[in-house]
Amino acid sequence: MTLIKRALSEDLEVYLSPNLKKEHGIVLCFTNRYGGYSKGRFKSLNVDYYTGDKKTDVRKNRKKILKKLNLENLEFIYSARQVHGNSILNINKYNNCIKLDTDNIPDECDCIITDLKNTPIMVMGADCNLILIADIEKKAVAAVHAGRRGTLKEITAKTILYMRKEFKSKADSIIVAIGPGIRRCCYKVNSMILKEFTDRFGCGNFFSIKDDNIFLDLIDINLMQLHEAGINKENIYDCGLCTCCNHDFYSYRRSKITGRQAAIAVIL
Ligand SMILES: [Zn+2]
Repeated sequence: MTLIKRALSEDLEVYLSPNLKKEHGIVLCFTNRYGGYSKGRFKSLNVDYYTGDKKTDVRKNRKKILKKLNLENLEFIYSARQVHGNSILNINKYNNCIKLDTDNIPDECDCIITDLKNTPIMVMGADCNLILIADIEKKAVAAVHAGRRGTLKEITAKTILYMRKEFKSKADSIIVAIGPGIRRCCYKVNSMILKEFTDRFGCGNFFSIKDDNIFLDLIDINLMQLHEAGINKENIYDCGLCTCCNHDFYSYRRSKITGRQAAIAVIL
């Protein structure tokens, strides 16, 4: 499924979902590291306030992304402090996140969900898998930060369950876009980490061994969780991009101190 297409204009590149926008009024977007204002190690489209980058540059980067998405009338892209857990924050008309005068929600969580219009939500990563989920019938979106620990805690499965309960989402109406993240080609782990995953998920095809090195495939494990939650293969789009061997993206493993790319979802 060609859900996400690379969209180039000026100096900012994003990966967008033109059909979802046209047919369902939902925008899913992944960014890379180009086109922003950040300098040095954070060059240039860092979206995370907690990396050591200048906050004013991060703010300008986020505003530039909104402009690129033709959402310049909106002030904020909402994100929270990510802690590699499996907590979900639902931004709805009953809580006051959207009344904050900042896009930096103080909650600690690794998944943000909303069914509010014009309320862009975002997760950020440098290697961690970023997964966007949309219910095209009930009009709800989720942004999931599924790194190693989040994947082990089954944050993706938990998000689908939450959407089913909260919005009565049907599996057939759920579309999933898996963004850039570190892939099996680069994600070398030790045997203790592998054991955590085999203890939890059995001995599947989610790792390979090459010259005594273990390579883990977190995407495969997230796909397993999605299939078990009843999501059709046809409804899942994987961009297939590895952040570690593709220098268009920030990579923690490659650079340690660095910026973060974004996965953004918004209902228009
Ligand atoms: Zn790679």
